[in-house]
Amino acid sequence: MTLTGNMLIGQQAVTGSQQALRAIDPATDHPLEPAYPGATGAHVEQACALAWAAFDSYRETPLTVRAHFLETIADEIESLGDELIERAVAETGLPRPRILGERGRTCQQLRTFARVVRAGDWLGVRVDTALAQRQPLPRPDLRQRQVPLGPVAVFGASNFPLAFSVAGGDSASALAAGCPVIVKAHGAHPGTSELVGRAVADAVKKCGLPEGVFSLLFGAGNDVGIALVSDPRIKAVGFTGSRNGGIALCKAAQARPEPIPVFAEMSSINPVLLFPAALDARGEALAQGFVASLTQGAGQFCTNPGLVIARQGPGLERFIKTAAGLVERITAQTMLTPGIFNAYETGVGLLLEHANAQLTAAGLRGESPNQCQAHLFVTQAQDFLADAALQAEIFGAASLIVQCADDDETRQVIEHLEGQLTATLHLDDADLEHARALLPVLERKAGRLLVNGWPTGVEVSDAMVHGGPFPATSDSRTTSVGTAAILRFLRPVCYQDFPDSLLPAALKHGNPLQLRRLLDGQGEAQDNV
Ligand code: NAP
Repeated sequence: MTLTGNMLIGQQAVTGSQQALRAIDPATDHPLEPAYPGATGAHVEQACALAWAAFDSYRETPLTVRAHFLETIADEIESLGDELIERAVAETGLPRPRILGERGRTCQQLRTFARVVRAGDWLGVRVDTALAQRQPLPRPDLRQRQVPLGPVAVFGASNFPLAFSVAGGDSASALAAGCPVIVKAHGAHPGTSELVGRAVADAVKKCGLPEGVFSLLFGAGNDVGIALVSDPRIKAVGFTGSRNGGIALCKAAQARPEPIPVFAEMSSINPVLLFPAALDARGEALAQGFVASLTQGAGQFCTNPGLVIARQGPGLERFIKTAAGLVERITAQTMLTPGIFNAYETGVGLLLEHANAQLTAAGLRGESPNQCQAHLFVTQAQDFLADAALQAEIFGAASLIVQCADDDETRQVIEHLEGQLTATLHLDDADLEHARALLPVLERKAGRLLVNGWPTGVEVSDAMVHGGPFPATSDSRTTSVGTAAILRFLRPVCYQDFPDSLLPAALKHGNPLQLRRLLDGQGEAQDNV
């Protein structure tokens, strides 16, 4: 399959006419063919008009049809074969096994949402049957279901070119909910985006769906993204990226005559708490696990452990010594883009110059362009509390260890943290009471709490939460990974005193879809419908 440099507006391959972007192989700094000219305002308008035209029919597709569509996207992605893998490796500098794994995760994610769509629990059906004899007033028949919000703008993430890009978690969950999707491709991997975009468009066609269900736009700079978020036919936004980018999109969404929700996953330093008994018992092993998590994928994960918090003592000293020795032997790894490499260098540079952050170890320097040299810093709790800049995310393999004098200081440091995607506790039995006392604070701060594990590696499952208070995300009530991500793109509608023939299938008296429904406050018995 030859890459064309075209966007997809519904089923049409369209050449943009604004400034072109070109992928750069970060391992060599060489630009890759072809060029991807950007969308004009008219292209954005066209994609939004098609998405809006598709919405009412797509959202009422039978659950089996929509589930089959998601599975067909997965099949089409797999059938792209090695071309997709090679292009993604070239555009991102990520190793081939990582890209192969990510393709597996992407397809599994689509198939998982197909299972969710078929089961129909996300429709959240609640039925309050009429109580005609109730005094002093009768109760009407009330039936609630969830309906999709409308077309969703999705911003592909640079650090997951497949699993959080064109057909990644945001797109899969929005399509599962019944929302058409318009993707603004990330400029770092346009060829990967084109290939996956064509796979999605082919699935739309094979499944006989309206063409506006999916479009893919390119754009160098912010204009396309802002135009998309500002279009009145867009009803929600999914985003993974920088804090500045997420905030800019939230502002644009709020400035509309009709504001819309933005589900932005932005910035997290993922504190790791090392409790005294655990440190004393296995400080060296903890250091090994920590350095492996910190340096995996050049640290380019939103769940990267960028902060370690622990009480001073011989256990912590052993941990730091072992971690420093390991970091010094870590070879440099190519980062995703020159921009991300430069941002990493700037962040590390600020810590190197900071009067109260001491460099404890640096990894091996890279010989090639854009290579991330791992860094480990140490600071004292009072210094950390005194300077908010010390908790800024450095996207890459850099982490700061905060030494606390006692339990009270540990609590102060945790209280001082911004919102986080994760908080990790390493503990032994003797640490349990101390950990229990901190749980209420940690629950206020983070979306996922882990014990004796590492935050990198996010399971796509029913119970997963990949979210958290600002700035981890712009909306802490939701998750962007896992099946609950579908709930972001839904809203409830109540039908009062509808005749059965006019009710949507999910709400009909006979429960023809065999859904698990809440009937008069109880789970509905299947023979009682
Ligand atoms: P980014 O700069 O936030 O860009 C992500 C997407 O949002 C791109 O499509 C970008 O479009 C768009 N965008 C950004 N700012 C915008 C604005 N003001 N208005 C409209 N659209 C805007 O993220 P990135 O390029 O992936 O990486 C940059 C930095 O983001 C990294 O160094 C890292 O700090 C952070 N990051 C964090 C995570 C995480 O999971 N926490 C993941 C990836 C990156 P254009 O490229 O066309 O401007």
